[in-house]
Amino acid sequence: MLTRRTRDLVPLAEHRWRDHALWRCVYCGRAATTVDHFYPYSQGGRSNPANLVPACDRCNSNKMEHDPIDWMTAVGVPADRRDWLASLVSNRDWRAPRGLRLPRTKLDYQAGKLARPAHTPAHELTDQRTASPDNSGE
Ligand SMILES: [Zn+2]
Repeated sequence: MLTRRTRDLVPLAEHRWRDHALWRCVYCGRAATTVDHFYPYSQGGRSNPANLVPACDRCNSNKMEHDPIDWMTAVGVPADRRDWLASLVSNRDWRAPRGLRLPRTKLDYQAGKLARPAHTPAHELTDQRTASPDNSGE
């Protein structure tokens, strides 16, 4: 079951990640119910397929506006998966292979809250719509 805020992003994410019914959270391996901007808007991330990854609500909510690499390190995403995610986000041609397996990983969400915030590029600040953390809730 997908959350409402995610619906518009699903067709874009399906270009790379196939049918959303089969999605697993790229961070923890549980069923994915949301589409996450790997690089958050506040860090210059965009809604293009390369920047969209399936995520469970818990990971997405905890990751929020944190720097993605720093957050993954803080919660304990294994290093090989961090590297894999960073590389595929920069590869427009990548598509999820059929039968992709994402092993479940127990993550430390308390540590995730302390991750470094994403750096907000100056050009994003001039185009001001206040980014409230409440906006992402449903
Ligand atoms: Zn997750």
